[in-house]
Amino acid sequence: MSAQIIDGFAIAQKIRRQIALDVSALKKDGIHPCLAVILVGENPASVSYVSAKKKALAEAGMADKSVLLNADINEAELLSIIADLNRDTSVHGILVQLPLPSHIDEQKVIAAIAPEKDVDGFHPVNAGNLLIGQAGFVPCTPCGITVLLKEAGIPTDGANAVVVGRSNIVGKPLALLLARKDINATVTLCHTGTKDLASFTRNADILIAAAGRPGTISADMIKPGAAVIDVGVNRIPDNTKKSGFRLVGDVDFQAALDVAGRITPVPKGVGPMTIAMLLCNTLYAARGSFK
Ligand code: NAP
Repeated sequence: MSAQIIDGFAIAQKIRRQIALDVSALKKDGIHPCLAVILVGENPASVSYVSAKKKALAEAGMADKSVLLNADINEAELLSIIADLNRDTSVHGILVQLPLPSHIDEQKVIAAIAPEKDVDGFHPVNAGNLLIGQAGFVPCTPCGITVLLKEAGIPTDGANAVVVGRSNIVGKPLALLLARKDINATVTLCHTGTKDLASFTRNADILIAAAGRPGTISADMIKPGAAVIDVGVNRIPDNTKKSGFRLVGDVDFQAALDVAGRITPVPKGVGPMTIAMLLCNTLYAARGSFK
């Protein structure tokens, strides 16, 4: 048996084509959707994520007011730049690329973004709205995973969904989304305190790995026929590559192919969906859908 590979890239491209059409319609109404991406420092992974986001904005016909800042900028200066962007009516969305240098308090910075411009959905107001099922911005990666499940035709109603990882940006919001009535999965949230992780993952109809550690999920931890969504993006050294590294997920992909029913690859699985959802959220912000 060989698992069917879920083509996140193709699904994301389809969504992005629709967004580009919606953007051009909005521009005819005099609204030019605009996102400001703030990058502090030159963390190589962050630089590459920001350049992918900027390319996606351009392709969607959105305006880009990105701000590149030196790693030694102080917290007060960064907060003041965010306050300016909050006031700038031509900017609909603000995203601060994480992680920030250790001398800056990330939570303070996230809380400084106006909730109606918080297209990453990390602000406490948006996190709270997700918890209580009210309208707001939903974090892009978890949102992208739920769209991926739907587009790939993976049944969720009554499914056992196991999420490995409980971060504020992936695991926790994803668990909340999967438990929503319209998705209706029974959710188990695992983490490093979970005893006998495999006993949970082997019961998963939908297994989502968001641990950030290669090899977290081996083939024997997967229920035969399960849908496996690999969120992990890990750089491992590879001398055969010009960059000196290659990207792998959290799942032992080759071995998992023999057990899973459906599986996302890394890259071209969840990653492209994250970017597509960022464009969606920016479009919502420009339309003023979240007020
Ligand atoms: P994170 O903040 O480091 O959180 C990782 C979570 O996984 C933690 O809750 C941790 O548990 C748990 N964990 C780690 N090792 C584990 C293990 N062996 N068994 C069980 N749980 C384990 O990471 P994150 O920001 O959520 O990101 C997770 C991964 O997704 C990373 O590789 C990241 O690069 C990737 N990512 C990809 C996208 C995308 O668009 N493709 C977007 C965001 C993130 P504790 O809480 O107990 O420490």
